[in-house]
Amino acid sequence: MASTYHTLIIGAGINGLSTGYHLSRQNARGIGLIEQFALGHDRGSSHGHSRITRSAYVNAHYVRLMQIAHGESWPQLERDAGRQLIYPTPGCFFGPPDGKYESYAQAVEEVGVDVERLTPKEGRKRFPHFRFENAAGVLYDRTAGFVAAAQTVQSLIRLVRNRGVEIRENATVLRVDLTRDPIRVETSVGDLETERLIVAAGPWASRLLPVLKSRVAVARQTVGYFQLAGAREQGAFPVWGYLLGKGDMGYYGLPQFGRDGIKIAKHIVSGVDDDPDDVPVQMPSAAIDDLRAFIEEQFVPPVERFIDWETCLYTNTPTEDFILDIHPDHPNVVIGAGFSGHGFKFGPLTGRVLSELSLNGKTSIPEFEAAREMFKATSQRG
Ligand SMILES: Cc1cc2nc3c(=O)[nH]c(=O)nc-3n(C[C@H](O)[C@H](O)[C@H](O)COP(=O)(O)OP(=O)(O)OC[C@H]3O[C@@H](n4cnc5c(N)ncnc54)[C@H](O)[C@@H]3O)c2cc1C
Repeated sequence: MASTYHTLIIGAGINGLSTGYHLSRQNARGIGLIEQFALGHDRGSSHGHSRITRSAYVNAHYVRLMQIAHGESWPQLERDAGRQLIYPTPGCFFGPPDGKYESYAQAVEEVGVDVERLTPKEGRKRFPHFRFENAAGVLYDRTAGFVAAAQTVQSLIRLVRNRGVEIRENATVLRVDLTRDPIRVETSVGDLETERLIVAAGPWASRLLPVLKSRVAVARQTVGYFQLAGAREQGAFPVWGYLLGKGDMGYYGLPQFGRDGIKIAKHIVSGVDDDPDDVPVQMPSAAIDDLRAFIEEQFVPPVERFIDWETCLYTNTPTEDFILDIHPDHPNVVIGAGFSGHGFKFGPLTGRVLSELSLNGKTSIPEFEAAREMFKATSQRG
């Protein structure tokens, strides 16, 4: 006999876990969560110690959603978890005149959040780590910070477990038959049945749902950790992002947290579709050299030493907009996918969206409903 659930979630990254957290908060019963690897693994997109959070965004929809994430979703999760998960840290977002800088500046001004435009000269005073030589301007985001990512994942695992969500780890979903009622879920540890399904499978999502095949592409990112000479003496290190144009590659970074060295990575969003199971064993030297060259060009303190590297997967849509939608052909299936390189900071909010879409077919978040077209699985944007 197959085990039967009311709602089964596939994937225990930030999105699947946060969805389980919200379903259990709403007293939903019969919830299962299935994960192909051990909980907290480092093969997907949600591992590592830190992620950036910010209000500065490319359009006003995201700025408004971030207001809810910062004002409601994270504080609620921190209360339930009984620990601090967001660490406020000044944010600094800059880029060349032909990049996305102006769109970011206009979006924050439209919504009216605590983000100030600085000239490069003012920027150098406020953020002495940077040269800002070719910058159109500098956005000083006072709402920014970093998320304690690993602690968030661990807190969510504990919360969903304590609230009765049945978690199966090291169990892979091999196939889903959405035409059956209840839905049939074939797994490496036996068959399951569920009335409702929520797919939050990150880079593997399109293997389970063909509707996503033409919509998402996987890009493996290399993250470098560097020690900068004298960086500690120059004041608190910000979270930062270098904004280039559409389909182009920017860079971003965070202060030291949880391990040695500042974190820096290049934001690769187009031109690749990597196999998520193809785990690199050797250090990607060219990528590390590129990160070092960026630091040498844009930063004041020189690199003292390279410390370490890791990789992590983006699941990109053509526009970098998330997919948060009911399956176009199956109303009992909800999809959370394509969280690209910026989904973590929204985690507790997107989990709420996915849980409400599954329970009610719509959400109680007017700002999401107003932007819903942007998040459709079949969106033609981009
Ligand atoms: C280098 C890097 C830096 C980033 N920096 C930031 C940042 O600063 N700020 C920010 O907001 N965001 C950032 N992001 C993006 C953010 O981390 C991701 O958007 C987010 O983690 C996506 O989470 P997810 O739950 O959708 O996917 P995942 O974390 O990949 O979770 C999906 C889960 O589903 C499981 N799964 C898949 N298929 C199956 C199956 N068939 N059966 C069972 N289980 C399955 C996987 O094993 C995985 O655990 C960054 C991402 C990377 C890679």
